[in-house]
Amino acid sequence: MKKILLLSSLLCLNYAANAQTALSNEIAYKVKNEAFNNSKIEEIAQFMTDYLGPRLAASNLKVRSEQLTMEKLDELGCSNSRIEFAADFPSGGWDNEKTYVAMTAPYYCSFSANPKAWSGSTNGPVKGECIVANIQNQEDIEKYRGKLAGKVLLMPTSEQYEMSFEPLARRYTDEQLNEMAKDSRPYNRRRSVLNNDYFKKRELLRQLYDLLKEEQVLAIISGSGTFNVPNSRGVQYKVGDPEPITEIVLPLEDHNRMVRLVNKGVPVEMELDVKNTFTDNQKVNNVIAEIPGTDPKLKNEIVMIGAHLDSWHGGTGAADNASGCIVMMEAMRIIKELGIQPKRTIRIALWGGEEQGLFGSKGYAMNEIFNAKEQKKLPGYDKFALYLNMDNGSGRFRGIHLEENDQAIPFMQTWGKSLESLGFKTLSIRSTNSTDHVTFSRLGLPAFQFIQDPLEYRRTYHTPMDCYERLSINDLKVNATMIAWLALNAAMDSERIPAKPGYPLIENKKN
Ligand SMILES: [Zn+2]
Repeated sequence: MKKILLLSSLLCLNYAANAQTALSNEIAYKVKNEAFNNSKIEEIAQFMTDYLGPRLAASNLKVRSEQLTMEKLDELGCSNSRIEFAADFPSGGWDNEKTYVAMTAPYYCSFSANPKAWSGSTNGPVKGECIVANIQNQEDIEKYRGKLAGKVLLMPTSEQYEMSFEPLARRYTDEQLNEMAKDSRPYNRRRSVLNNDYFKKRELLRQLYDLLKEEQVLAIISGSGTFNVPNSRGVQYKVGDPEPITEIVLPLEDHNRMVRLVNKGVPVEMELDVKNTFTDNQKVNNVIAEIPGTDPKLKNEIVMIGAHLDSWHGGTGAADNASGCIVMMEAMRIIKELGIQPKRTIRIALWGGEEQGLFGSKGYAMNEIFNAKEQKKLPGYDKFALYLNMDNGSGRFRGIHLEENDQAIPFMQTWGKSLESLGFKTLSIRSTNSTDHVTFSRLGLPAFQFIQDPLEYRRTYHTPMDCYERLSINDLKVNATMIAWLALNAAMDSERIPAKPGYPLIENKKN
């Protein structure tokens, strides 16, 4: 290793900021050996899914999972494990304690139902006739006045089932990966403009909701999700608001069946018993732990790896996103187990409140990296060496999206060499969105998500199907190997991937 360090400092002299070097093949072997022959992936995976259960932001189960995950990180050998406050969360906590939903006329049928998060409880077991809300304008709303008490309101059918001829799960082909490696700029971006219809519809729904509340409708039922699996959703709620009406998501098959029957004039009756509890926990927390850096000059620089710990309430949030947490936790264990003393600090961050809008990572950035309110760079900005995020299900890493940061290419080429035999080949300069790396990438910092085999992710995430069975244990082992290797390289290299020139962008508040 000393040889390598010497080489890297020589390169430094000659090529300034472009110098980067990979750790030795001996260390590559050790990382892979630990990851594949002494793997704890299966154990961590069962812990994070079966044992922790669903982890909706700010819920009692999420609070429990923070404590248990922190203890697990200690057990895996991490230092400075802690639960860190990230951001205020006005919705507060919500836990579902009971859900029973059935059709009782024209015949009996129980349903696989998912209550909408932050919606209210029924008054014990209740039964009522179903009516379909058919509302195009304000006059239509008036037609329902005085007729809603004790009824169950079926929202009109919004999605129709389309038969799919796609395989249930798939991996990327070489052709698809080659396509991803191409720069797709300049973009032909069209801004989606919300038209008047959207606002009219939203206003009508608000008025309808007020009437439903006033007339004490029993529940609102909507349809989303196929193969008799309902999707997970939430309603708008702030701590202190009156408790919302009970809202249930049914799979399309069940919801559309009842809508068709009612529209044909067949009386349909439903029975529901739903109990939800609200708690005044208006906090999103992150779970953080470290392997401290040892180089006197570099130990305050941070190589961060992470994923979001929160999930939706159906299922156990296995692919989305226990899988990311499992990989990052196993990577920390591998690094710790090898006994290498990293120069920079390696930090694991398991974010909260991602599903409701990246609350955890945004809060972290606000407190440590860049104060968005004051448009002020904080000390953490210049200490930020790298962030690697995983949040696209359980599929194997096939490459990485580099967020249009050309300066990252030579680093990933050098470090990635030892991972090629495991399938890590595609360096895509493109950006990818919608999860926690965006918080840092927007600030110009090197924060990346991987290209992951899609497996069956799109079909299963945000549903009660998202349980342990959705995890591909071997893919997770490969991903943990890659994270451990890349994080170690980033923590040991004499150079680091620079932030994009000109960042962070400072808004002129006077404009
Ligand atoms: Zn996710």
